[in-house]
Amino acid sequence: MQNVRNIGIMAHIDAGKTTVSERILFYSGKIHRMGEVHDGEATMDFMDQERERGITITSAAATTMWRDHQITLIDTPGHVDFTAEVERSLRVLDGAVALFCAVGGVQPQSEQVWRQSEKYGVPKIAFINKLDRVGADFYAVIGEIRDEFQVAAVPIAIPMGQEDRFQGMVDLVRMKAVRYDETGKGSVSTEIEIPASMREEAAKWRHRLMEASAEQDDMLLEAFLSRGELSPEEIVRGLRKGTLARKLVPVLGGSALKNKGVQSLLDAVVDFLPSPLETPIPVAEGELAGGSAGSDDGPFAALAFKIISDRHIGKLTLLRIYSGRIGSGTSVWNSTRRSEQRIARIVRMYANRQEALEDAGAGDIVGVIGLSDVQTGDTLCLRDKPIVLESMEFPAPVVSISLKAGERSESDRLSAALRRLADEDPTFVVGYDEETAETVVSGMGELHLEVLVERMRREYGVNVQTGRPEVAYRETATVVAEGEYKHVKQTGGHGQYGHVRLILEPMPPGESFEFVNEIRSGRIPAEYIASVEKGVVKAMRRGPHAGYPVVDVRVRLVDGSYHEVDSSDMAFQEAALMGFRQVFLKTQPDLLEPVMSVEVVVPEEFMGAAAGSICQRRGRIESMEQAAGARVLYCFVPLAEMFGYAGVIRTLTQGRGSFTMHFERYEAVPFEIERQIVEKRIREKRVPGA
Ligand code: GDP
Repeated sequence: MQNVRNIGIMAHIDAGKTTVSERILFYSGKIHRMGEVHDGEATMDFMDQERERGITITSAAATTMWRDHQITLIDTPGHVDFTAEVERSLRVLDGAVALFCAVGGVQPQSEQVWRQSEKYGVPKIAFINKLDRVGADFYAVIGEIRDEFQVAAVPIAIPMGQEDRFQGMVDLVRMKAVRYDETGKGSVSTEIEIPASMREEAAKWRHRLMEASAEQDDMLLEAFLSRGELSPEEIVRGLRKGTLARKLVPVLGGSALKNKGVQSLLDAVVDFLPSPLETPIPVAEGELAGGSAGSDDGPFAALAFKIISDRHIGKLTLLRIYSGRIGSGTSVWNSTRRSEQRIARIVRMYANRQEALEDAGAGDIVGVIGLSDVQTGDTLCLRDKPIVLESMEFPAPVVSISLKAGERSESDRLSAALRRLADEDPTFVVGYDEETAETVVSGMGELHLEVLVERMRREYGVNVQTGRPEVAYRETATVVAEGEYKHVKQTGGHGQYGHVRLILEPMPPGESFEFVNEIRSGRIPAEYIASVEKGVVKAMRRGPHAGYPVVDVRVRLVDGSYHEVDSSDMAFQEAALMGFRQVFLKTQPDLLEPVMSVEVVVPEEFMGAAAGSICQRRGRIESMEQAAGARVLYCFVPLAEMFGYAGVIRTLTQGRGSFTMHFERYEAVPFEIERQIVEKRIREKRVPGA
């Protein structure tokens, strides 16, 4: 397992992630023809529309070999609308390559993924790509990495020439130069002596490299102080230690497009990024007993981190195995869902094919066919050695649209498509609006939903019609309230009787819901308590304030009564549902809206216009910064005001401005706007009981 590297490439869109991934897979011999991005042949982007859009959405995993090491590349998207993909890949990879464009540097929008990777404690190396491009500046980008991320970015190689004179890299560890000569078919690398003109500079950077390495380890420090020099092996040892401890980030560079520097990048992945043995196992419940935990001999534990529905092979579950071995044809225990699951087949995924495996072990990332009851984030283990691994947290969806099949005959296919897509993507939620009799889907952003609708059309052949995107509002209580409800009906035969007294209390944001049973001395029999909770949960799905889901409330069942004959599960559900609605209206409910953290990047002269457009949208500007010749506005804006903003900012800045946003938190809607929304919802008959 020492020879395994599970890595991701984190980059801002356009930095060259697809090209670098391709080259990595090419050099390590698993694909035999290079697909250029502009041909739409990129192997990692295996879904049609990703090719067209040129952004990478799916975190496909592809395995390859380099220097006797098994490297699995887990794709990590750079677009914040695909948070789920970023989260899940960071959760299962052991190390990452942070990719930067030598011209663009640390783009304001690219910082988020870096921060997320810090949250997960992922060790990183950096690759500065596009050194051949006009305006490339290797050293400026290193400075930006240091400043923006407050990390010791240490070059392990420096470029020989930049822009159109970029010829190769000087390897500061071995003090050799590698020159790349372009040929018709790619480029050929030759090791040469460091050119005389660069010796002094190389020596200076090497000295810094040795210092950085020596600082990581007392023995190395001693050696360095006494000899004034470290051997290449010593330098690598110190850097590796510093990288794993996340005290430093080794930096190198090249031009993926021109096939320069990618082999050195693979070397650096092997030299500096951790093996699964060096990565802690994220256990949430139970324990991986014994000293062999984390090895092939230990008890089996794996995390299902992605589900892909494939037309040809059905449901493919991607697993990261943390401990033990499994063979195909065996059974495993889903400890999250408490069900026995059969592993029909295990496959290793390469960029363009899959290979059936007899078995797979600790440290592996493999695909499994045959698991039916498994969702993203579930733990698989052995039934007699149960364990639960830390699951993944996905943010709540904030945008929704209604949709329907264009033709009646297509509606079955639409349901199938929705089911599969929701299976794959935990941030895509499918619901049904009873009042309007419409299917409503929610996701992380306009782009996210657009991509999914496009997939319904393309992969499932459904001609979907969509409504306008809508904000996923919520409602919540602001004060404590109490009340009771008696559901009594006397129709022929059996009557219905259920009676509850509820207290509703506001909870801190994000805590969602708690049901507390405080019934004493059997005033309501135990069997009906669950019915009460069910009724409450049902009522919360569509709040009585504006018909949006209710969040962050504690519901205390404090009293009630029952009837020997007439009480039933249904009667208590109904009493709880109606009771909740009545009491909730007494809690002075607030309507909550998603507020986005927005970063607008514009050239200096459009600063005023951009700031104005944010203020008009009820936005709050937090700070303004200068970055690479542009101004960046950091602000918070309600999502409701951001629909169509892409077009607005384009027009305002003659096409030179751009923005990104991600969900920040829910906040109360200002009173006057809330009133309008509530009135409209009542008019549209979308508020239950109103
Ligand atoms: P991604 O969006 O990060 O996946 O980036 P791509 O790999 O799709 O690359 C974006 C664009 O940059 C494409 O047009 C590539 O051909 C180009 N590109 C990638 N690497 C290099 C490079 O090293 N030098 C130059 N000049 N262009 C590059």
